[in-house]
Amino acid sequence: MADADAADRRRKTASRPAAGAASARLSAPQQAMRRLGLVRDVDLALHLPLRYEDETRIEDIAALREGRTVQVEGVVSDCRIETRSRRQLLVRLHDGSGELLLRFLHFYPSQQKQMAPGQRLRVRGEVRGGFLGREMVHPAIRIVAEGAPLPQTLTPVYPTTATLPQAYLRKAVHAALARAPLAELLPAALVPEGLPSLREALAFLHQPPPGAPLSMLEDRSHPAWQRLKWEELLAQQLSQLQARAERARLQAPPLPAREGGVGTALRATLPFALTGAQQRVVAEIGADLAKAQPMHRLLQGDVGSGKTVVAASAAATAIDAGWQCALMAPTEILAEQHFRKLVDWLQPLGLTVAWLSGSRKGRRREQMLAQVASGEAALVVGTHAVIQHDVVFARLALAIVDEQHRFGVAQRLALRHKLDEQALEPHLLMMSATPIPRTLAMSYFADLAVSTIDELPPGRTPVLTKVFADTRRGEVIARIRDAVREGRQVYWVCPLVEESEHLDLQNATATHAELSAALPGARVGLLHGRLPAAEKAEEMDAFTQGRTQLLVATTVIEVGVDVPNASLMVIEHAERFGLAQLHQLRGRVGRGATASACVLLYTPPLSPTGKARLRAMAETGDGFEIARRDLEIRGPGEFMGARQSGDALLRFADLQADEPLLQHARAAAPRLLAEHPAAARAQVERWLAGRSEFMKA
Ligand code: ADP
Ligand code: MG
Repeated sequence: MADADAADRRRKTASRPAAGAASARLSAPQQAMRRLGLVRDVDLALHLPLRYEDETRIEDIAALREGRTVQVEGVVSDCRIETRSRRQLLVRLHDGSGELLLRFLHFYPSQQKQMAPGQRLRVRGEVRGGFLGREMVHPAIRIVAEGAPLPQTLTPVYPTTATLPQAYLRKAVHAALARAPLAELLPAALVPEGLPSLREALAFLHQPPPGAPLSMLEDRSHPAWQRLKWEELLAQQLSQLQARAERARLQAPPLPAREGGVGTALRATLPFALTGAQQRVVAEIGADLAKAQPMHRLLQGDVGSGKTVVAASAAATAIDAGWQCALMAPTEILAEQHFRKLVDWLQPLGLTVAWLSGSRKGRRREQMLAQVASGEAALVVGTHAVIQHDVVFARLALAIVDEQHRFGVAQRLALRHKLDEQALEPHLLMMSATPIPRTLAMSYFADLAVSTIDELPPGRTPVLTKVFADTRRGEVIARIRDAVREGRQVYWVCPLVEESEHLDLQNATATHAELSAALPGARVGLLHGRLPAAEKAEEMDAFTQGRTQLLVATTVIEVGVDVPNASLMVIEHAERFGLAQLHQLRGRVGRGATASACVLLYTPPLSPTGKARLRAMAETGDGFEIARRDLEIRGPGEFMGARQSGDALLRFADLQADEPLLQHARAAAPRLLAEHPAAARAQVERWLAGRSEFMKA
């Protein structure tokens, strides 16, 4: 997950042109605000607190109870550095009712001067019962004059980053809130009953009065929150309806199915019959392709459910109609796996499949480009290289994007624009192995058709999943030894180390050495992101063909690798992976006839979410159930955002918990669009300015 999140952040940063030239003149906090997307006053007004601190009240020291976080005010009677178990600064504070000890384990010499005896302090922290009586460890302190006024509202705590101080952000939000154009856009009849106006809601959420119901603010059930979430959902629905209307005006080449062509030949030569679910989705896609409007469809199916052959079948339909198809995958390894499979299937039928990747350069690349431009290549498979500007298609009619959430908006748009000369759009098929529950998808995506493969090919053996503490590493290695002796193959996946590729590599290299030493009879390969493409391909080949028995790899193998003889997967530091990622990785085994196993090694202690994830993995192998648990553990905002859509679509609403609001917004959006088109546009602009392109990709 760390990798996906980091990539998302990079992409966001990169796609924000404002962060470029002007940034030299911006202060560090201003730059940080830009990076967080806080550019317009409205953006700041919509940047909502994570929680609140109550500084509106001062409590008597004598009345303090342990475990509560409170504010007190008093005068320093003593301030000294003492060395007990360690050096620390101890400050005694009196307020007339009693004495409180403030303890600082980390401090600057200047703080001792600041808190000199006689100084009046307002401090806020958790009360603890210490050895020397009641105390606060590292409270927030402020020097105040006697009778200094108390804030009239709760103090908001905003999501922020290290270079953007809370106090700076508070001021910026406060100022922006006063300036932001927040006039009511929507006719009252369309707003759910009993909710405050947007301006009232925001004023309340940024500065709740003392005594505001904190629990309703925290769980976001307060009417002010409801208003915000509804507004957000409405903007999303509107923007999708707009995109759908725009798409309906676009023309795509109709690709009617044809009997007796490549599609028929492909199905006849496949070594297996399509499952019922595959047949169904092939038909759904076929119906879209036959139309003169561009398809916009998500094909979702669990890892190993057989999406590639469905993609091949769609490609065959395009080819049979006399057009070209492009298939783009996020990594070179994944793209290459597709390429090999498609070559296997389609080359014998007399078709040319071209390969484009970042590592293919020079004359070979020129050759490929010529084949694509002349139309000789019926199908083009590759990575981002497929959308580079010098790639010109003769007649592109279908673009297929695998693991679509890994691509940015700009990339998907670029792929679609590969056919713009004829004022036609290609059909777009997106594939994902991270399923979202079907009903959720259907009600949320107003502009995306969803096809679901809900059945695995026959003969798959369920993967037995075991969760072990790393202390049992020795046992696991013994198990690998047995597997290798029986002629089976094994993956060992090393985790990301704090988003540092360099450390990943060190880590994987060390593990490779450790396992090579522990398994003298086995040939152990090493695959990581830093290897040049040719060596990656070589390592993959060696494993695919059984020349290496154990493959130590970083998450480069996460998607798409298909080696049926591999029947054991060990994931080290499994607690560092997201649930979807673990499921993807596990999907690399259980592809052959032998019973497969997946061992999740973790290093204690486990966090509660870490524990929940590993438990979910051990308890179920079903991708939809995993997706459901993921939603439960993480909340759908994040789920939809990072994994499914390449960008956080929903910041506030929670599709599951806010289902009634979603239904309301879904019903209100078409009415607003029809009856108040200007208001609808303004609503989308307010919420999604600069992001609505995304909705169309
Ligand atoms: P994914 O949906 O994860 O992309 P793949 O398309 O890679 O899955 O398919 C996984 C494996 O299952 C491949 O080896 C593929 O050839 C095989 N396969 C696909 N469909 C069927 C089927 N109907 N019967 C048997 N094997 C199948
Ligand atoms: Mg796949």
